[in-house]
Amino acid sequence: TAPAPLLRLQNVESAYGPIKAIRGVSLKVQPGEIAAVLGSNGAGKTTILKTISGILDPRRGNVEFDGVDITANDPAAIVRRGMVHVPEGREVFALLPVRENLLMGAYTRSDSDAVARDLELVYNYFPILRERANQDAGLLSGGQQQMLAISRALMGNPKLILLDEPSLGLSPRLTKEIFEIVVRINRERGTTILLVEQNANMALNAADFGYVLENGRIVMEDTCANLREKDDIKEFYLGMK
Ligand code: ATP
Repeated sequence: TAPAPLLRLQNVESAYGPIKAIRGVSLKVQPGEIAAVLGSNGAGKTTILKTISGILDPRRGNVEFDGVDITANDPAAIVRRGMVHVPEGREVFALLPVRENLLMGAYTRSDSDAVARDLELVYNYFPILRERANQDAGLLSGGQQQMLAISRALMGNPKLILLDEPSLGLSPRLTKEIFEIVVRINRERGTTILLVEQNANMALNAADFGYVLENGRIVMEDTCANLREKDDIKEFYLGMK
């Protein structure tokens, strides 16, 4: 039997005033895997992540993380449980140096030796951040800011990272580089990752399990290996016909 999921959504519905953005979403993320939610612009991907991390309260349904119902928890309480959300657009602290941004990611931790080790670890994943450690984060390129945002999340030593459109606005080369490191983080550290992406090709290659979201509903779910072979996916998401 499969281990208990690290994250489970059951019948989650979230809305902005009268606009229902997600309509009864159920999904699971198993510990140690990379899961992906694919969907076009406006499908509700960002709304799913905001609902999971507590930025948005769902109208219905529930969210369980690590065996605990967190539906009513606020974002800070959810971070303390070991979940970090990397939002779309990165939201780095532009006027703080790169190193300070990274240390902000470790604010819930008190073991300074372990924090120093993790700082070294993220510098090894993204050597450019070591080179730019003392520069203000606002001076980094978009791709470097994405690296910083992912690294800042890692500094919290989370069990689960939520990644919103890591490829947004990046060149194909940088996108590939970032996805390779996301996979390495997952393989080497065992960090579970839930990412949402419009770039289906990248997401299906990096993730183990995938969900396809259309108009706020999950319309397909399978291993990414299987999804890559489906005609609908090839035609509508991979542009192969
Ligand atoms: P994108 O790739 O553009 O981020 P998405 O799949 O993440 O798309 P969401 O941002 O979750 O989609 O949006 C889902 C729906 O909710 C869309 O119809 C969108 O217009 C609507 N929506 C999102 N945010 C708000 C908001 N703050 N107020 C009102 N409607 C919103």
